[in-house]
This record gives sequence, C-alpha cells and structure tokens, in this order.
Amino acid sequence: MRHTILRGGLVLDIAAGSTEPADILIEGDTIREIGPPGSAAPDGAVEISAACRLLHPGLVNAHTHGHGNLAKGMGDRWTLELLLTAGPWIVANRTPEVEYLSTLLGAVEMVLKGCTACYDLSFEWPLPTPEGLTQAAQAYGDVGMRAVVAPMVADRSFYDAIPGLLEALPSPLQKGVAQLRPPSAEATIAAIRDALRDWSFDRDRVRPAVAPTIPHHCSDAFILGCAELAREFDVGLHSHVAESKVQAVTGIRVYGHTQTAHLETLGVLGSYFTVAHGVWLDPDDMKRLGDNGASVAHNPGSNMRLGSGLADARAMLEQRVNLGIGTDGASCADNQNMYEAMRLASFVSKVQGPDWRRWLTTREAALAATEGSARALGFAGKIGRIAPGYKADIVMLDLDHPNWLPFNDPVNQLVHVEDGTAVVSVMIGGRLVVDNRRVTTVDLDRLRTRVAAARERLAAANAGYRRLYEALEPVVGSHCPGLARAPYHVHRYGARLD
Ligand SMILES: [Zn+2]
Repeated sequence: MRHTILRGGLVLDIAAGSTEPADILIEGDTIREIGPPGSAAPDGAVEISAACRLLHPGLVNAHTHGHGNLAKGMGDRWTLELLLTAGPWIVANRTPEVEYLSTLLGAVEMVLKGCTACYDLSFEWPLPTPEGLTQAAQAYGDVGMRAVVAPMVADRSFYDAIPGLLEALPSPLQKGVAQLRPPSAEATIAAIRDALRDWSFDRDRVRPAVAPTIPHHCSDAFILGCAELAREFDVGLHSHVAESKVQAVTGIRVYGHTQTAHLETLGVLGSYFTVAHGVWLDPDDMKRLGDNGASVAHNPGSNMRLGSGLADARAMLEQRVNLGIGTDGASCADNQNMYEAMRLASFVSKVQGPDWRRWLTTREAALAATEGSARALGFAGKIGRIAPGYKADIVMLDLDHPNWLPFNDPVNQLVHVEDGTAVVSVMIGGRLVVDNRRVTTVDLDRLRTRVAAARERLAAANAGYRRLYEALEPVVGSHCPGLARAPYHVHRYGARLD
C-alpha cells in the first residue's frame, strides 16, 4: 500500500474551531493517522511538506450543473424562469464531447478553488444516455475529483408546467416551444435505468443519482418512477424545490398545497433526498424534510443572481434539516467558488433580521460546506473532515498569503476572508490534483483550445434557439412575475407590520 505523509501543516478542526500543528499519514486514499510533528512514517512513504500551510477538508459542492460551464456569463438579468427559457440556447446541440469538456472545465475550476467533490445535476437533451453520463463521469475521473452525477430529467416542458404560460404565447411561439416537449416518462425512466444498471465507475469516486428536475415539471408517475429507481439502485434523489416564488405559487395552484407537502404525500422524502434551493419552504415543509432526514443544498449566490430570494438556513437547521452548500451551475452562479458560496451563506443569513443569535455562525457555514454537503452526496463519514478513516481530500492554503495575515481565527477567516486565492495544493484521495497552484491531471492548454472551438460551434448551431429566447423573453418575463405577484405568505423570520 502506498503511504504519504503530509508534514508540518496546521490542521483545521472546523467543529472545534481550532488548529493544531500535525503530520497526517495517508495510506492509499485514506487518512490513517494524525500525529504530532515529526511522527514516524513507514519506509518508502512519500513526504510532502505542508509547512506554512493551513490544511482544511476539501469543500463539497452540494449542487451544480456540469453541462452549464460553457454558459458562464451568457446572461445577466435572468430570473429562474428566464434561465429556463434560455435553456435550449444554452444546452442544445451538445455532443458527448461537449458534455465531457463542459464538465471537465467546471471540475478544473472547482479543484483550483478548493472543492474536492460535487453533486452534479447533468442535463442531456432529449434523453439522458449512458454515453453522455459516462462522459460526465469520465471528466471527473480524469480531473481526479469526486462527484455524484445525476441525470436531470422531466416529462413536461417548462411551458406546460407553468399555469397559463402556453396560452400567453402568440401561436407562432406556441409552435416554437412545442418541439421542446420532453420524451415520454417511460422512455426517460428506461434510459436512466440503463445508465444505473451499467454504471462502471468506482462509486467511492463517481457515483450516479437521479434528479427529477422540478416537481411540477414532472408527472406524479414520473416522480414515483425516479424515486423507485433511486431506491432500487441505492442512489440519491435530487430536485429543485421551492426555488423561485413562481415555483412556490405554481405548487399551490397545481397541487393545492406546497411542493414539499406533495412530495411527502407521494412518499418520496427520505435521507436519500436533497432539495436544491428551498428558498420558499415554509416551516411545515422544513419539518417534513427534517423529520425524513433529508438535505437542502443551499445556493445563496444563485438565489441572489436569479432574484429567487434569501433562504432561511437557520430555520432549516432548527427543523433538523441537513444543510449543504452549493454554487449552482455556471449559467446562473456564474463561478464555481465554494469559498464564495460559504461566505454568501453566512451573509445571507445575517441580512434576514436584527437578532444576531439567529444568524449562521462561520462554523455552521463551514460545516455545511463540508460535512453537510458530504451527507447530501451520500458520502457521510467518508469525506468532509480531516480525521483517521476519512478519505484524504485535503486543501492546503498558503498562510503567507494576505488572506491569512494576520492569523486571527481560522474558521472566521476561512469563511469570511478566503476566496480561493490562497489555495496552493489540493489532494483528493491521497493524490495531488493541484500542486503548487497547477492542476496536475489535465492539460489546460489543450482544454482551452477545445473549449474555444466548442463555444464557437455551439454559438452557430444554437443561433436559432437564441432568437427563440429573444422572442420569448418579453412574454415569459411578464407572465411569470405576474404569477409571482400573488400573495404567498411564508412566515419568515422577524415581525411584519402588514
Ligand atoms: Zn440547479
């Protein structure tokens, strides 16, 4: 067995809020021992100096979209609904190679910014294919990053899912969006089943999951089919729930109660289930999720970028919801920086009311971005901590960097100061994936060339979808905010005068 010893680093214990100088002995991909500086190592162990480095557990991104990485910066004033309208422009005409490149690019950005694992809701039009999912999984494998790859699916189009939207479109546009209807529930379920059955990657590195994208974009039978597959193959289930106010209002209109109440009625909640966003969850919804051991992937950056709102992470924690933190995809985030996501999670909590005792602490934000996200990915007890028995997913920060001068408090500085610029090296499963600020596993020059070529080809191929977006924008951009004007009372934190 290969041994590595990381010598002389300052090891962060997030839960304790403290650091300790220590040597970390790694056997294969797992942390074996943490001892005082100068600890003995087996003969032949590779020694890596971590002098002047703060070592923290790799950050875990609980929600992103690998297919979105070629779309960074494509939009500005997009609501969630305008983003969904732009979907075909962003993701049409993908080949398996583009799927690979897009996912690889995101993985490279994440590892350079201290993130060692992610939950990727990957979209392929019209159907997920074993080939497309293999390309996405291969991209993580090639970078050396851990991931959960979940095909993101629906059996209704956005235009069929939003009350009155199709009718609001002039008839040429109705014809334009008719081609965007997804295939039947049976066809999609069969495609996912094939992918899950034939999964060939080591599940400790890259595992599959299932992502019925948004509850009301899916028939009940389809959601039940997805949940059944997740249980049969022992994988996660992940859905965008209560993300925008339009979604929350639509849930009430379509189901007569909230999306989460509906999912509970269907019997699909459980510890394998992750809600993405959860901005508009009410206290009963949070209790439903907490009682079922479910997770929320809190994406504060995306929630602000799309104007979805400010999720109440404190209320979630009070209902024993497992809290993870994510960036969301590059089409709506737009970077993949988990330090920024942690920082925003802290800030978003702090703007919600004057009672500072209810604000998230930096410790809670950092735990959510490590152990909390790890549990959402199904990796509880394996990643998210630097401790014996855990995988050696370790980020090394330069303590000489201005971010750490002076060194006052490790967790406050990790969450409120660090932005990724002090990341020097990143180890995943005992392997240095980033070494002295360079990715060791991917040829970045080659990636750059291939990404530029793909961008050019896609811009030409999707010009028609771009024009369709431009024609749809005024209609969707008026109809959906109109729905969102409906009174919707969530008992938010703090007193209200109305
Ligand atoms: Zn998402």
